[in-house]
Amino acid sequence: MNSNLQRLSDTFTTLVRIDSPSKEEAQLAHWLKSRLAALGAEVYEDDSQAVTGSNTGNLIARLPGDSAVTPLLFCVHMDTVEPGRGIQPQFNDGIFTSSGDTILGADDKAAIAILLEVLALIQENGIPHGPLEFLFTVCEEIGLLGAKALDISLLQARSGYALDATDVYKLITQAPCATRFKASVIGKAAHAGANPEAGINAIQLAAKAISAMPLGRVDADTTANIGLIQGGKATNIIPDLVEIHGEVRSHDPERLRKTQDEILSLLHRVIEDCPKQDGLPRLETSVQNDYPVLHIDKEHAVVAAVMAAAASLSRELVLGRTGGGSDANILCGKGITCAVMGIGMERVHTVNEFIRLKDMENCCELVLAIIREWR
Ligand SMILES: [Zn+2]
Repeated sequence: MNSNLQRLSDTFTTLVRIDSPSKEEAQLAHWLKSRLAALGAEVYEDDSQAVTGSNTGNLIARLPGDSAVTPLLFCVHMDTVEPGRGIQPQFNDGIFTSSGDTILGADDKAAIAILLEVLALIQENGIPHGPLEFLFTVCEEIGLLGAKALDISLLQARSGYALDATDVYKLITQAPCATRFKASVIGKAAHAGANPEAGINAIQLAAKAISAMPLGRVDADTTANIGLIQGGKATNIIPDLVEIHGEVRSHDPERLRKTQDEILSLLHRVIEDCPKQDGLPRLETSVQNDYPVLHIDKEHAVVAAVMAAAASLSRELVLGRTGGGSDANILCGKGITCAVMGIGMERVHTVNEFIRLKDMENCCELVLAIIREWR
C-alpha cells in the first residue's frame, strides 16, 4: 500500500503551522477532531484539563474494527517545545526543516501526520483491521502531564505503540524509571565581616554534601544529576538558604531507590554533623516519582508484531533502550504495554530539527504492516 506522499506532506506542514506549545493544544485538538471524524473515527476529549492546566483535554479516537481482534493503541503527543510559534516549514531535497528561528515540530507532529495518513489509507483501500485506538496527549514535554492525568478506563487497548522516538529502525522496549527531588539547606544569616561566628553557611554545607554524591553515570543502569542550585543574597551575608534540584533515573527500580536514598542521606549526615544554633541548620527534602520503568519482554505480542511487520517489508529492526521517559512509561505504569517507535525526526528540541519525508513514508508502511500482523 503506497502512501500518498503529497497528502502526507500537506498534512504535516498543516500540522506544524498550527501552534501548540504545551498547555495551548486546543487549536490543534479542534483541527484533529474534525479530521479524525472525517476519517471514520469516533473522537472523545477527556476531562484532564483541570489537572494538566492545558486549554484542552487529551483526545482519544476510536476506529471500530473486527471485534474478534484485540484492540491496539497508537499514542502521540500534541504539544511542542519552544521556540515553537509561527513555524514556517521548509521542504528541500526531501527534507523538512524550520526556517531557522523555531523548532520544526516533527516531534511529535510527524507522528500525527503518519497516523492520519494510515487512517486515510485504511479508509480508501478498505484495509481490514481490528479495533484501533489513537491517543493524542497534551503536555508531554513538560512532564508527561496529559498521560499522567489520563483515566485509563477510557481505553480498551492494553497494548500499543507510542510514536515518539528518532530511529525508524529501532523499537524501544526499555526506558528507565525516574524521580525528581528538591532539598532545601537552611543555615543562618549573619554579617560576613562583623559577625561570621553567628552564621551557618548553607552554601558550604550543601557543597560538602554534593561533592560526595554519586552523580553522572552511577552504574550501567543508573544516572543521577544535580541540575539546579540557588542560594545566597550578597557577598557580605552568610547565606541562610540553598535550594538543590536534581533527578535520578534507573532501569532498575531498586537501584533508583538506593541512589535516591544515598543522595538525600548525604545531605542529612552533613546537617547532623554540624554544631546546632537555635535548631539550625535544618534540611527539608521532597522526592517526586516522575515516571515508572518501561521494560517490555522480547516475547511480548507488541514486539512480535513489529518484528513480523518489519520482516514482511524486508526491513531490519532492532530492539533498543533509551535513557529518557515518555508517555509510554506512564501508560506502562497504568497497565498498557506500550513500546516506542522511531519516526525519523532528528535534532529535536532545537531550531535545527529536521525529518525526511521518506522516513515518514517508511513509518506509515510499518504501522500499516503492524496493524496487519496484529490481526
Ligand atoms: Zn516527543
